[in-house]
Amino acid sequence: MATKLFESLIVGPIHSRRLGSSLGINLLPEHGKICSFDCIYCECGWNRDHRDDKTLPTAKQVEDALTERAKQLHKEGVRVDSITFSGNGEPTIHPEFAKIVDITLKVRDKYLKEAKVSVLSNASMIWKEEVRQALMKVDNPILKIDSTSIPLVRAINRPNQRYSLKETIAELKKFNGNFILQTIFFKGKAQDPKTKRNVRIDSTDPRLAERWRNLARELKPRQIMMYTLDRDTPAAGLIKATMEEMREIAIPLKEEGFYITINGEKV
Ligand code: SF4
Repeated sequence: MATKLFESLIVGPIHSRRLGSSLGINLLPEHGKICSFDCIYCECGWNRDHRDDKTLPTAKQVEDALTERAKQLHKEGVRVDSITFSGNGEPTIHPEFAKIVDITLKVRDKYLKEAKVSVLSNASMIWKEEVRQALMKVDNPILKIDSTSIPLVRAINRPNQRYSLKETIAELKKFNGNFILQTIFFKGKAQDPKTKRNVRIDSTDPRLAERWRNLARELKPRQIMMYTLDRDTPAAGLIKATMEEMREIAIPLKEEGFYITINGEKV
């Protein structure tokens, strides 16, 4: 299993299937992963594999590094479509996340006006008012719900801090649809950490797919990003969903007027 960590605070720009030319901000350690989830498909690997480095950058360090890189890209005339918070774990667990969002918006306005500010988040911290408010300020709050089944959320995402699917859905409603829902589709098996039972995962199962569509109907996100596995995963035996399977799931929502992309391509 070859998983991949961001090895600096600012990365890129690199090409992202979903966001185009993306300048990454990693608010997590440069040589470790910290996340409120421990997804079985996480490209950064398991949380337990990265205990050595727990250092988070300060807001000042982010400001300095981002300003320097943005200035340089501006000078070179490099196009940046998105300044993206992603990195080695969950960006919203950073204690200065809200302040850093404000800094990033200012730097963007000064040097990279064409870029959208995007946050890839598992939505586990949106119960915190200041995190939710900060996410509401960015152009693209891209918020994850992988399943509407609580045992499957436990088996797939393995939350390790306070997390309630019900509460997260209630908080997502406060965005009034002004967010992007991201969901991964795949198949496999995993243990539910609570019951210790093995559960079958199949996000393309018609019953689960309809429950997921109903969630979309309830939340009315302005965009839905569906995608599947792209790189190696820490858990073995996971199988990608095919484009065809995902398209079939998406069609009823598309017909109802939802804007949907699958692996970055518009449906
Ligand atoms: S939420 Fe993202 S960073 Fe965290 S474990 Fe899951 S995939 Fe990895």
